[in-house]
Amino acid sequence: MKMIIDGQKVDSSNGKVIEIINPATGEVIDTVPDATVEDADRAIAAANRAQKEWSKLLPIQRANMLSKVVDLARANMDEYITLLCKECGKPYTEAVFEANEFPDLLQEYIEKYKHLEGRVIENGFEAGQDGNLMFTVRMPYGVSVCLVPFNYPVELMGQKISSTLLAGNTAIVKISPYNPLTCIKLVELFKEAGIPDGVLQIITGGVEVGERLTHSKDVHMINFTGSTETGKKIYEAAAQNLTKVALELGGNDAFIVCEDADIDLAVEEVVAGRLLCSGQVCIAAKRLLIQNSVKEEFTNKLIERFKKVKQGDPLNPETEMGCMINVAAAEKVQRQVEHTIAQGAKLALGGTHDGAFYKPTILVDCTRDMDVMNDMEIFGPVASIMGFDTVEEAVDIANQSTLGLGGCVFTENMKLALKVCREVVTGSMNINASSLLRSHEMPFGGAKNSGLGREGVCVSFDEVTQEKTIVFRNLHIM
Ligand code: NAD
Repeated sequence: MKMIIDGQKVDSSNGKVIEIINPATGEVIDTVPDATVEDADRAIAAANRAQKEWSKLLPIQRANMLSKVVDLARANMDEYITLLCKECGKPYTEAVFEANEFPDLLQEYIEKYKHLEGRVIENGFEAGQDGNLMFTVRMPYGVSVCLVPFNYPVELMGQKISSTLLAGNTAIVKISPYNPLTCIKLVELFKEAGIPDGVLQIITGGVEVGERLTHSKDVHMINFTGSTETGKKIYEAAAQNLTKVALELGGNDAFIVCEDADIDLAVEEVVAGRLLCSGQVCIAAKRLLIQNSVKEEFTNKLIERFKKVKQGDPLNPETEMGCMINVAAAEKVQRQVEHTIAQGAKLALGGTHDGAFYKPTILVDCTRDMDVMNDMEIFGPVASIMGFDTVEEAVDIANQSTLGLGGCVFTENMKLALKVCREVVTGSMNINASSLLRSHEMPFGGAKNSGLGREGVCVSFDEVTQEKTIVFRNLHIM
């Protein structure tokens, strides 16, 4: 496949390519261009040219054009699902869910956009301002670079470009080099729907091209989802030009189970909460903090439940868990598991991999000084269990990480649940379910090193636009 710059399907300027490998089979399924900095510069120039006209269209014109993309995407769903399965290694059922997220999100953002309102500040609220009537409008930033990680490429591209484009910005998507194919197919639909060249472009490539895009003074917003490590580099790059940033970063969510909790429910919640997408989820339940009086019961039940998970061919609709994005990712998880064992944890289940297929794994006897209970995010199917005596202690352990994306608490005591939710410093908390929830509506995002800003249908338009005040002066009508 080729990338899309200024409406054209193009190769890299030096002709180099990246092989896209099906992680379940090791087979090369396609190649994409390995973009150069010159390619990035061409995309930035095209995005700036296109933005002038795109931002002048009426909101309803942009909304109607993008509605055509919704219809086109829904018509080709089967193709996207299979491609997504193959390039990500995620099970068929998960690919069905994710592929449908794209038109669903776009549709919801369109609906929201048609009902956005500004504000009016009447005259006379301050002395000496009696002749002024102010109102605000939301202006696009200009060109937005949208950087997408490998774990949910289609959903996260959908989250970013829907609001960005509707609001009158143009977008350059820099997709992960591991699994860009489904996203390229979706971007091709925008031309078919009549969206002008340069409004939405997609660039394939690695860190070098990402750095070029994020350091450019001709880019006006950087909308990033990915690791905290990369997020910090992007924040630094953005500071050179004071470019607006939105950062959705890594997490190490605490999963707190109190002794009065429904243990069977908590165990079931860890299955999806930790194993979805082979554990490669930012808001997965990563640190399992279990009150000591119920820890043994919880652990035994979890081991039995994890043993029943059907792992295998992602394309088989019966498969519950597929494989990781590549062998290197599984090897990294292996190193992290071995490191945690070296720090004193015990392996209760799993702890091995076959190529990119990492087995559901349980580590017990974790202690609060271990890296896994602090900032080491294991991006794989590993549940790390630690006991606690008092709920205050659990909150303290939850808060010792510099990451603060999500979290959850299981208890029948709602006063206690609400107290824990307020005290654990994160962007979201769940009661009696794992933190693994990203509804389209919620303002999603992190506290501390898990990010800056919020993303979701109810908030993204505030992120991708800047408020401008226009004032009628010397009216003196009151
Ligand atoms: P990553 O940070 O390695 O890469 C993300 C994107 O940034 C990729 O497209 C990559 O090519 C690009 N990139 C890498 N280095 C860059 C640089 N120096 N300058 C510009 N671009 C650069 O992340 P990943 O491994 O693809 O994704 C996994 C991480 O993403 C995990 O930490 C996970 O928790 C996080 N994540 C967060 C959320 C969220 O909403 N908070 C959602 C999904 C994933």
